[in-house]
Amino acid sequence: MELLPVDRQLCSTMSQACKILYVEGHNDFNHGQISARRLRSDLYWIRAAARGFDEIADDDFVLVDRQGTKLAGKGAVPPEWPIHSEVYRLRSDVGSIVHTHPPGAVAFSATGRPIRPVSHDGAFFATGVPIFSATTNTIIDTETAKLLATQLGDAKGALLKNHGIVTVGGTVRDAVIAALLLERAAQVELQLGSTPNVSGSPEKDIQDKNEFIFGSVAMKTYWDYFCRRSERAASGTQLRTGSPAPTEAIR
Ligand SMILES: [Zn+2]
Repeated sequence: MELLPVDRQLCSTMSQACKILYVEGHNDFNHGQISARRLRSDLYWIRAAARGFDEIADDDFVLVDRQGTKLAGKGAVPPEWPIHSEVYRLRSDVGSIVHTHPPGAVAFSATGRPIRPVSHDGAFFATGVPIFSATTNTIIDTETAKLLATQLGDAKGALLKNHGIVTVGGTVRDAVIAALLLERAAQVELQLGSTPNVSGSPEKDIQDKNEFIFGSVAMKTYWDYFCRRSERAASGTQLRTGSPAPTEAIR
């Protein structure tokens, strides 16, 4: 089929997104995918199978239909394509999907506890993060993917128990930042553990945070920031966070 400039643009943006996901701790061997819907069709571009996020180039994506049939691109269709097909089928507002296995979210998903608006990150998900537990295995069949898409409902993301996360957005940018936020929110919850009497942001603040901290202007600055971070990581010029341990400082 004839490819359009929009196809190259989607793959280029997702290739950048893969580098961000890698640098921000979402790589898990060669598991996980990012996809983007082609225009307003049933077709979507998805990262080719069996590649690490760090080694994805603009031409490492395949165009597939709702049945997972490859229509264009090089490489194999990843086996978890049903997740993407079923979420796009139920969510006409979704233009991009991220599925990764970040360690904080995987660990927190095993607790069965909900993500709360403890941090700004948690406030982004104040409408709820479903915990999908119909299986903890890789989702490679349509029936299981349908269950996940149904449970996701109109949420921005879901935890997959003992497995990972799915986040969605109107754009690649929004789906990726949602993935970073969900992992951060899970890590904050893990730090709290079973601490009693935890108080989250009040409803008015949650609303304000979602309008300002997670408004469209701010989300663009986050994307630009993470692009710069991944470029610095690639060139070896990214600052390291935190102070050296005392023993290291003495040496
Ligand atoms: Zn997976």
